[in-house]
Amino acid sequence: MNTQIIIDASYFAAAFLFIYGLKRMSSPVTARSGIVVAGVGMLVATLASFLYVFGINDAAQPHLNTNVILAAVALVIGTGWAWWSGKKVAMTAMPQMVALYNGMGGGAAAAIAAVELLRASAVHETVSLIVTVIGALIGAISLAGSLIAWAKLDGKINGTWRIKGQQAFNGMVFFATLAIGLYIVFAAHGHASIAIVAAFFIGALCFGVLMTMPIGGADMPVVISLYNAFTGLAVGFEGYVLQNPALMIAGMVVGSAGTLLTLLMAKAMNRSVSNVIFSNFGTTGNEQQGEIKGSMKAAEAGDAAVNMRYASKVIIAPGYGLAVAQAQHKLFEFVKLLTDAGVEVKFAIHPVAGRMPGHMNVLLAEAGVPYDMIYDLEDINTEFKEADVAMVIGANDTVNPAARHNKSSPIYGMPILNVDQAKQVYVIKRGQGKGYSGVENELFFADNCNLVYGDALKVMVTMIQAIKSLEGGH
Ligand code: NDP
Repeated sequence: MNTQIIIDASYFAAAFLFIYGLKRMSSPVTARSGIVVAGVGMLVATLASFLYVFGINDAAQPHLNTNVILAAVALVIGTGWAWWSGKKVAMTAMPQMVALYNGMGGGAAAAIAAVELLRASAVHETVSLIVTVIGALIGAISLAGSLIAWAKLDGKINGTWRIKGQQAFNGMVFFATLAIGLYIVFAAHGHASIAIVAAFFIGALCFGVLMTMPIGGADMPVVISLYNAFTGLAVGFEGYVLQNPALMIAGMVVGSAGTLLTLLMAKAMNRSVSNVIFSNFGTTGNEQQGEIKGSMKAAEAGDAAVNMRYASKVIIAPGYGLAVAQAQHKLFEFVKLLTDAGVEVKFAIHPVAGRMPGHMNVLLAEAGVPYDMIYDLEDINTEFKEADVAMVIGANDTVNPAARHNKSSPIYGMPILNVDQAKQVYVIKRGQGKGYSGVENELFFADNCNLVYGDALKVMVTMIQAIKSLEGGH
């Protein structure tokens, strides 16, 4: 009984810490501590779950000791693996890791559902069964879909995959899976055979793969946050089945945060969520995109730096390449030289720049860039026409003007940073590499655009030296 009071109090504390941690994550100033707070909440919830097991132990259930040992071993392996991989993961591989962890959450929820559906002693009340089956469906789709998203982000699967009549085929798989789910609930009343339950899970996993394979290019951010929402919902549903408040609250918090993020990301891409899932946007870039006029002109890093030193307003558009090069510290060092020389410098952040939501904000915060220098797309887009220089560093899709006017472009309709409207544009990139969507960028061919070729870190070092030698020469 005492154990139960401690468990309940711990779950209450964990729920408070999750919500308070999330609240702190809403501002970049408090976000880091918010993550720690939510992490402590997770630790409390995990420890309370062990108490729960010991609580049942009092009632002398069979096999319990084996279960406790198995759970402890799983916990040690999981913690050790996550600690090790979290320490060694490169900043650029962080999105893949997030997708993988997200998939694991969905898989865990699906596993709980599988146990509940196969356990002879499980409660087979209809409402619980419906919730179990819905959680299982969403969790398994999220697991399979997140794994495909992980493979795409990691470059293990390239482009998109589509078959003729894809939508109809996907629909068939989905409805067949749903039908098995209905059978489990209403015909078998939870006493379905292993083969039926396995067929249900295989159907859900296949649907997750089929649903994600055709989605590609610039649409991935929406899909990733959608699976985030799915995982939260699945965990919440299974928490209801287990009557575990910590799971219910954590699941619902993740589910609603994920849903809001999905809507925000879809809005950032100027698309509806159903459009992302059911249409062909953001494909490989092999389609007709219209001919691009003009030629690519190279510029020296030093010349570009000096030009910016004598400008009055410079706007910087960072992208995925900044994360690859880890040039954020050098970039800020360069910016400080400009501001010391009286240049007004602002950072323009596209909502899907990089490979995960908030990727650029994280990088710039790491380098110590003050928040008041950082502007969202809608707040800065009208200022580009007043800027003497727009410097694009490792960004591509998020600054492609084709999205504004070229109806045949796969990224048509996506809001972009209007860097092309600045008097002069410098684009720092290593070579002819395309962006994530695989679409050619007409900005690079514009009259007012010059390409500064090289790894962003090396280019920044050269630019810093150019400014310093200029100051030294005076
Ligand atoms: P892009 O992926 O469009 O382009 C990155 C550019 O950086 C490339 O053109 C590449 O050219 C250049 N680059 C790569 N490495 C370096 C380096 N070391 N130094 C200098 N340049 C480098 O980036 P954006 O940020 O503009 O766009 C993000 C894209 O990713 C969008 O399509 C978005 O939809 C997608 N996405 C976003 C997610 C999110 O949540 N934010 C999640 C998943 C996908 P080169 O090889 O020539 O150097």
